[in-house]
Amino acid sequence: MTPGASTRSAYETFLNASCDRLGYGSSIISLLSLAAMEIKVEIPIVRDNGELAIFSGYRVQHQNVRGPCKGGLRYHPEVDLEEVRGLASLMTMKTALADIPLGGGKGGINCDPRKLSLRELETLTRKFVKRIHREIGPNSDIMAPDVGTDARVMGWIHSEYSAIYGHSPAAVTGKPLALGGSAGRDKATGYGIGIVVKEYAERHGIDLKNATAAIQGFGNVGVHAARAFSDLGMKVIAISDSRSAVFRRGGVDIDALMRHKQERGLLSDTEDHEAMDPARLLETECDFLVPAALGDAITAENASRIAARTIVEGANGPVTSEADRMLKERGVPILPDILANAGGVIVSYFEWAQNLQREIWPLDRVDRELERILGKAARDVLDRAAAEKLDMRSAAFDIAASRVKEALDATGF
Ligand code: GLU
Repeated sequence: MTPGASTRSAYETFLNASCDRLGYGSSIISLLSLAAMEIKVEIPIVRDNGELAIFSGYRVQHQNVRGPCKGGLRYHPEVDLEEVRGLASLMTMKTALADIPLGGGKGGINCDPRKLSLRELETLTRKFVKRIHREIGPNSDIMAPDVGTDARVMGWIHSEYSAIYGHSPAAVTGKPLALGGSAGRDKATGYGIGIVVKEYAERHGIDLKNATAAIQGFGNVGVHAARAFSDLGMKVIAISDSRSAVFRRGGVDIDALMRHKQERGLLSDTEDHEAMDPARLLETECDFLVPAALGDAITAENASRIAARTIVEGANGPVTSEADRMLKERGVPILPDILANAGGVIVSYFEWAQNLQREIWPLDRVDRELERILGKAARDVLDRAAAEKLDMRSAAFDIAASRVKEALDATGF
């Protein structure tokens, strides 16, 4: 199964189980499962060498009953419609679980951003907006960063969209601060992981001082999760990027690793850190394992070798549905993606709200509000899991699905 198909099928499995528990009929299942709109466009660009290259761009708007569709734009060579569909549905569940007034969407372009020049990336992004601008906007569908995209890409989207509709910062989030981005958006997903782990540890009487973590991924999510963990007194003993990994019993030095990666492109060989096989990172014995890279990191093939006490899904869909079942049988708890990585979309919501109201919030207000909303979502999941004797993913899906159903019911469906 392609990674995209597997994200989609995992979503279907979790959703169907949830609708079963909640006693929902087939029409609600269809509404929660099918996307409201799927867009595919071909984007031709002239490469720097003068040759023509054509990329496929996708945007899936899954649900907008609770608010405009919201979700990232992914640049990765394996992006396809099936993957974007699965990820868009997860966004519907994520915004509902966080109880913010937004729906779910996702987009992607099947390109390798590392192999494109800055000019090529900018052209590709602007052309994508030219193709789909009628379908996106502050009241319909709001894009944000995801794998392979960042604030700069969001800045190009903002500028292209605003060239057509006039200054419209609320049409896209995760923008540079200078263009109406929000304080704290950059670190939000990683710090959100810290908030969720703290709530979980408090509930289960786990002392986080000196608790150990291993993180797969050295992008925006992995790096900020590592910083959040060390603020909580935890030790990140192993961390990897796509090609290298390091281990350090006393806790890795994130600043040193960042410097080393910038200079040498790899994490290995950083002074005072032991190099390890990145394929083995997921098997590190630790209290919290955070897959924060791509989907399908933990599969039926490696689930039995996971030696962590708890898994925290930093990425979207990092555990396949078979692996989820195997880990459940082994009693390894999973803090699911729609909770664990919701910090990003929650601060995107703040950014959208600030832009709509022409306000600028200081960082301490963003941090406080993030803690309030995500802390409550985590406690909702922990309460429901305890009350219904469910694993945390099932509890999270049940809460989210029932909120979307309540909104559908309220529209008179
Ligand atoms: N791409 C992120 C996610 O998967 C953020 C989405 C957003 O901020 O809209 O949650």
